[in-house]
Parts: sequence; structure tokens; C-alpha cells
Amino acid sequence: MRGKRSELIQNGGQGELALLDRIRRRTTRSASGGLRLGIGDDCAILRLKPGEELAVTTDLSIAGRHFRLEWHPPESVGHRTLARGLSDIASMGARPLAALLSLGLPKELTIARGRRHAWVDRFLDGFLALANQHRTPLAGGDLAESPMAVADIVLLGAVPRGKALLRSGARPGDVVCVTGALGGAAAGLELLQKLSGRSVSTMRNSKKREGLLAPHLRPQPRIAQGLWLRRRQAATAAIDLSDGLSTDLDHLCAESEVSAEIDTKAVPIYTGATLSQALHGGEDYELLFTARPNTTIPHGIAGVSVSTIGKIVKRRAGQPRVILVDASGRHSLPRAGWEHFS
Ligand SMILES: [Mg+2]
Repeated sequence: MRGKRSELIQNGGQGELALLDRIRRRTTRSASGGLRLGIGDDCAILRLKPGEELAVTTDLSIAGRHFRLEWHPPESVGHRTLARGLSDIASMGARPLAALLSLGLPKELTIARGRRHAWVDRFLDGFLALANQHRTPLAGGDLAESPMAVADIVLLGAVPRGKALLRSGARPGDVVCVTGALGGAAAGLELLQKLSGRSVSTMRNSKKREGLLAPHLRPQPRIAQGLWLRRRQAATAAIDLSDGLSTDLDHLCAESEVSAEIDTKAVPIYTGATLSQALHGGEDYELLFTARPNTTIPHGIAGVSVSTIGKIVKRRAGQPRVILVDASGRHSLPRAGWEHFS
């Protein structure tokens, strides 16, 4: 964590250096996993195992675009910031090595109010809880004062050379599979919008509401499932569902130069979500993958269900890339994915 010259926060003991120190005390400087040197020097140092290569992804979260300060608990914003990066690492079949986090924050989000912890500390609670769960040390980053809250994450992962799961490996005849259930994040966001006039503590009182909000507030990146698919060489192609099934399957088909037929009734729908949310809702962070038809796909991987939802077919000129098959026939499934808060 750097940022010495930025203008962040001068408020008694809450100055930037104090904030940096608070972050540093909550992270490890000592070696862990692939991290040889963490926060405190000019660079972090990572070490790959022999025969590994580095998988790198970056993701920007902006207040009002990817989250709303008035809707999302800060712990959820921290969790979601890291989950977005970890999900990309999962989709490649990589293991996470470390995360780098840069925050641009309005001053008031760094200041504790009475007995309430500062927004940034609660953000870190959510961020570090998920980081610990996936043994992903926070290895560095930057801090600056900003007119709006911005969180930029870089995730570093390791994968055996040439073995990463790519979007481009699907072939006609492959089956199309998905982990978990879809649409939960979109249904949760809709509920969050409805509840936006009420306080989060009232929402927390209901277990059912909590279950409906969880996929949106705390999506679970499928690291274990991605590693399983890569180690078993079970998948021919993979992508994580960040923008929605219709959009992400279209991306996979485009990279593989194929089309896909999806069986509507095979799509696993999260309890409380609609078919449309399952097809188009974004931010479920499940894995979508393809496999050769003779590959045995288990009903679950590391505690998460797996569903076969369709097959890859040859791409024909003038035909849609993603086709939805139901009782009434075959329909083009247009991309109608996540548009955030636009
Ligand atoms: Mg992705």
C-alpha cells in the first residue's frame, strides 16, 4: 500500500498513514502460499512453482455503477470487489496467489462515527473474510481521496503452463454445463431495490430475505470447482457468469467459433428467481463450461451442484450463436446481460 503523496484523510488519528497501518496490521507480511513478501515494501514478491504461469485479471467497481452506498452494506461491497476478481481466476482453473487493492474514497468513508466503524474498515471486514476463505493474501495496493468511492482489484493466480481453461476450446458435440443455480443475484438485487427505503438491520431480521439477498450481497467464487475441472481435464472451455448466461455463453461461443443450444427446462433457477433472471441476470459468478460428450460430469463438484443445460453445435452463417429450445420450438436467445445500474 502506497499513496504517501495523496491527500487522503487528515483527521486526528485517522490520517492516511494510520489507515495504511490499520490495513497492514490486518494482513500478513510474511510468506504464505505463493506470496514471498507482502505489504510494506515497494513491491510485493510472488513465487510460482516450477512449470506454472501467471493468470492476471483486473476489475473496477464504482459507486453508483456497480454498487450503491445507500443500498449495499460496506462488508458486501468489499466481498463483491474481491469475488469479481476471484471468479475470473476460478474460470481459468487457476489457484489464487494474491490480490492488490486500490481504493479511491471520499473522506467521510474513512472516518468512524461514534461506535460505528468507518465504512472502509467494514469494507475490509468483507474483503478479508473472503480473502481468508480462499487463502488469497492482500499483497499491496494504493489509497487516495476521491470524490466518489472506487475500488480497483487485481488478482494474481497460478496455473500449470498451458493448462488454463480458456473460452476458445468448445467443439460441436460438447455438452454445456453450469455450476449452482442462476438468477439469484438478479433476484437479490431486485429485492434490495425494493427494500432500499428500509434499513439493512430490518432486512437482516428475516432469514428468507437473507437467503434471497445472499447471492447478490455475497456471491461465492467457484475456485474449488475451477481447480477440479482443470485438474481432471474435464472441461474443454470455461467462463464465469459475470454478465449473465445469454451474454457469457455468447462470448464463449464467439471465442470457440461455435453455436450453442440450451434446453430451457434444464436451466437451474435459483429459488425465488425467474427464468428471465436465470438467463439474463448477471453477477451469479457460477462457472459455465463445456465438456466432451463422453466425459463423466458429476452432479456436484466440491459441494456445488452441476447441471447439463445444452450442447454445442456447428456455427452456421446467419444463425444465432445461442439458441433456446423449449416445448414451442427453437428461439434465438439475444444477449441481454447485465447493464449494472444504467
Ligand atoms: Mg470473467
